[in-house]
Amino acid sequence: MSAATPPLSVQRDFPLARLTTVRTGGAGEYFARAGSQAELMELLAWASAGDVQVGVVGSGSNLLIADEGVRGLVVKLDRALASISVEGRRILAGGGARLPAVAAGAARAGLSGIEFGVNIPGTVGGAVRMNANAYGGELERVLEWVEVATSAGVDRRAPRELGFGYRRSGLLAGEIVARASLLLGEAEVETIKRTLAEMRRRRHEAQPQGIRTFGSTFRNPEDPRAGGRSAGLLLAEAGCNGLAVGGARFAPKHANFIENTGSASTADVVAVMAEGRRRVLERFGVELEPEVQTLGAVRFPWWASR
Ligand SMILES: Cc1cc2nc3c(=O)[nH]c(=O)nc-3n(C[C@H](O)[C@H](O)[C@H](O)COP(=O)(O)OP(=O)(O)OC[C@H]3O[C@@H](n4cnc5c(N)ncnc54)[C@H](O)[C@@H]3O)c2cc1C
Repeated sequence: MSAATPPLSVQRDFPLARLTTVRTGGAGEYFARAGSQAELMELLAWASAGDVQVGVVGSGSNLLIADEGVRGLVVKLDRALASISVEGRRILAGGGARLPAVAAGAARAGLSGIEFGVNIPGTVGGAVRMNANAYGGELERVLEWVEVATSAGVDRRAPRELGFGYRRSGLLAGEIVARASLLLGEAEVETIKRTLAEMRRRRHEAQPQGIRTFGSTFRNPEDPRAGGRSAGLLLAEAGCNGLAVGGARFAPKHANFIENTGSASTADVVAVMAEGRRRVLERFGVELEPEVQTLGAVRFPWWASR
């Protein structure tokens, strides 16, 4: 098979904004949904043969797509690769399974350890890539193994092989988490459900609801000049709540969330990020770095001199 004859599932010039929670950015040159490992491997083989770059989108809940679009193939996992099953104390989930659904499924089965996933609107694959965490829970701690697909095949990796750090992993671009196994503890269904309800309530209080956002914009800094303050607090103290460029603004209720208030472009988002970062640098001497991931040529202006 050559690059000239893509698998039938491949669509050209596919609008990607709708696959993200902030709803900005352009089209993917090639786009396909992979519903099984065989379909995924066929796509990866085709891409590799034609030197076509591969990117993956989960729920797009921490993702900025370039306005100019994305060259190469963007893959989204669904069907068998988004399924969830319970086997004893294990949850086997496709990389495309949604974390809140995994948390709910675990609760029904009396399995504890993934409750924090109830508030993370991403997929298992995106959560592995980002080492998602919330309320003291961290994916790394319950992960037993992941299966990573590349054009060379599928390999099973233990958490220690994934290079986890604070909201990051060592997974490379083009390495796709196809499946994961979570090993959980046992607990009373009612106790777990109460925890889920409490986590939802706390989240509701702390974060704006129903807005188009990608969650944390910047990583919490380790710089001692931050004095232990979160990125959100630094931005708030630098006067960023409600600060807008075009259709993008720092949410009035949570300054580390950027909101698409209407018809923002990714360029608007990047511009408002740059202004927030500039203010924090000027006021505290702290250089914030993005947590949000990118697909396509999204350029942060402060990276130009690097
Ligand atoms: C309202 C809101 C609240 C949030 N709260 C939290 C929170 O409490 N804690 C937290 O950690 N995060 C939070 N997030 C951020 C986000 O949900 C997480 O980072 C999540 O893990 C991203 O998963 P995703 O599937 O949406 O990934 P995407 O945003 O689609 O992609 C993110 C990165 O992961 C890669 N990726 C996606 N799928 C795969 C895969 N199968 N294999 C390999 N790489 C993949 C993408 O290529 C990209 O580099 C929040 C976001 C929102 C919008």
